Amino acid sequence: MKYQKERELIVEYGKKLITENLTTGTGGNISLYLPEEQVMLISPSGVPYFETKPEDIVLMDLQGNVLEGTRKPSSEYELHSIFYANRPEVHSVVHTHSEYATTFACLQQAIEPLHYIIGSVGEKVRCCAYKTFGTYELAEEAFNFIHEDNGILLGNHGVLTIGPDLPSAFSVAKDIEFLAKLDYRARCIGTPKLLNQTQMQEVLEKFATYGQQ
Ligand code: 13P
Ligand code: ZN
Repeated sequence: MKYQKERELIVEYGKKLITENLTTGTGGNISLYLPEEQVMLISPSGVPYFETKPEDIVLMDLQGNVLEGTRKPSSEYELHSIFYANRPEVHSVVHTHSEYATTFACLQQAIEPLHYIIGSVGEKVRCCAYKTFGTYELAEEAFNFIHEDNGILLGNHGVLTIGPDLPSAFSVAKDIEFLAKLDYRARCIGTPKLLNQTQMQEVLEKFATYGQQ
């Protein structure tokens, strides 16, 4: 079986979706792009994360053909492959149904810049229109909507994040849930005071060189 290490990584991060409260049940999905062969590895559809084994991860090409694996791939495979086909710098996509972020998605309401961590996502966490799950329409809507951001809310559905690798895309999903929870709580006791454009510009510049380069 090819790509054992990468399959194990998807299994590990699938469990993290549950243990870190980023999704419930079999909601959400995870993929990795393998640029040398222009193929992707994606979580199987509807398999509980703690029951998923490395051999359950499905190897697919970007045209939607299964190359290796006996499981049916995630119903959202197009939501993943559209990024790999069109954004060469994106090597991982994470989709979650984390509860606070999905609450904002159900209101079709963006998360405004109330904390500097939003800079890991963009100027705000914007929300795209509702489209049926597991459709090319959803993939197209998310792809056309995300622009320079690293993550968005999917209207009445959940969260989508992208990154150069799985830990990065996962970390953005974590940040979005943190921000949604803060926004929700801040609104419970007052009106959040938002960072202004100048402050956000400074934050975005600092994020460009944040951490170990
Ligand atoms: P899959 O189990 O098919 O990946 O679907 C979960 C999901 O979140 C659909 O949007
Ligand atoms: Zn979903």
